[in-house]
Amino acid sequence: MRFETKAIHSGRKVDRSTGAVTTPIHLSTTYERNIDGSYTDDFLYSRGDNPNRRALEECLTSLEDGHDCVTFASGMAAITSVIEALPSDKPRRVIMPDDMYFGIRSLISETDIGSKFDMVMVDMTDLQEVENAIQHAPTGLVWMETPSNPLVKVTDIEAVSKIAQEAGAYTVVDNTWPTPALQRPLTLGVDFSLHSVTKYIGGHSDLMIGAVVAKSDSPMLANLRAWQHSKGAVPSPFDCWLALRGVQSLAPRMRVHCSNAAEIADFLNHHPNVEAVHYPGLAHHPGYVIAARQMSSFGGMLSFQVKGGEREAMAVTAKLRLFTRATSLGGTHSLIEHRASVEGSDTMAPPNLLRVSVGIENVEDLKEDLIQALE
Ligand SMILES: *Cc1c(COP(=O)(O)O)cnc(C)c1O
Repeated sequence: MRFETKAIHSGRKVDRSTGAVTTPIHLSTTYERNIDGSYTDDFLYSRGDNPNRRALEECLTSLEDGHDCVTFASGMAAITSVIEALPSDKPRRVIMPDDMYFGIRSLISETDIGSKFDMVMVDMTDLQEVENAIQHAPTGLVWMETPSNPLVKVTDIEAVSKIAQEAGAYTVVDNTWPTPALQRPLTLGVDFSLHSVTKYIGGHSDLMIGAVVAKSDSPMLANLRAWQHSKGAVPSPFDCWLALRGVQSLAPRMRVHCSNAAEIADFLNHHPNVEAVHYPGLAHHPGYVIAARQMSSFGGMLSFQVKGGEREAMAVTAKLRLFTRATSLGGTHSLIEHRASVEGSDTMAPPNLLRVSVGIENVEDLKEDLIQALE
């Protein structure tokens, strides 16, 4: 099956007991044993496994061309689990990109993870820096996020995973922004592809789930499954059901997200009140060539710098009518956000930078809204 077909058919089957075409939501927390003590379909307690979660995990495994998928209560729960599930024979050192999802910075500064692991940040777009960091000390895990947040930097997945694997480190790509519709890290040699399903896969800003898809069986995958079950940060059956509903339209939604974002990036790029546009589909973007190679399209996320400072940038967001001023991304509706004020004092975001999650509205309406706001 091809991607669009898998998104609709993987993990989904007609309900045997009722003939329901749409998978029912199984809210039951517990499952009856058969007389001989066995369980039907191996379901015994919902934290361990349930039909809705299993269906979603099957679908995401198939979309990423993976071996197995483990879902969690949020993207951050998935991220924490991936770091902590590093097998004990691996060095406690994690190399991460300096431009990455801000929640990981908070995880390091606000929890004890930074004292349990040596978290090193490098410019992942510079292979020499990655090489130096990995030569410097034994490393257990190399983390990639591409395109990155919020500067939309592009990392060469194949090259970084080669460096990491030669040093015996596991590799993971946060694939939330491109989604498997545009980028499949496991086919480029990466061990784990991670998602905030909350974003594009859910697609409608109404659920919270994290997922890790593994390329193959490994001690780390076994740990992740144990973490899910025993640490218990599991997604609800209802959220899994919503995600499986959302993922059916992932491919066509991504096509519109991408074409709208490309058109808006081009429009902003020629606007006299815009200082810079960060979008990997623009030929002048430093990651353009790599993005064109490892992604099938350039995605629905962009950021741009308004001429002036924070005040001018905020003034633009105040005038917009269709772009909602809110964090997060990946929904059908367009969102805009002043990252520096969200991220606080240790932000990497320039003060005049606005991050846009381009929705799937009519692009002319979006452009007209930007025209009046940038006047
Ligand atoms: C939102 C996001 C996360 C965190 O996911 P939650 O579901 O909010 O916990 C991680 N990585 C990226 C790239 C994100 O956009």
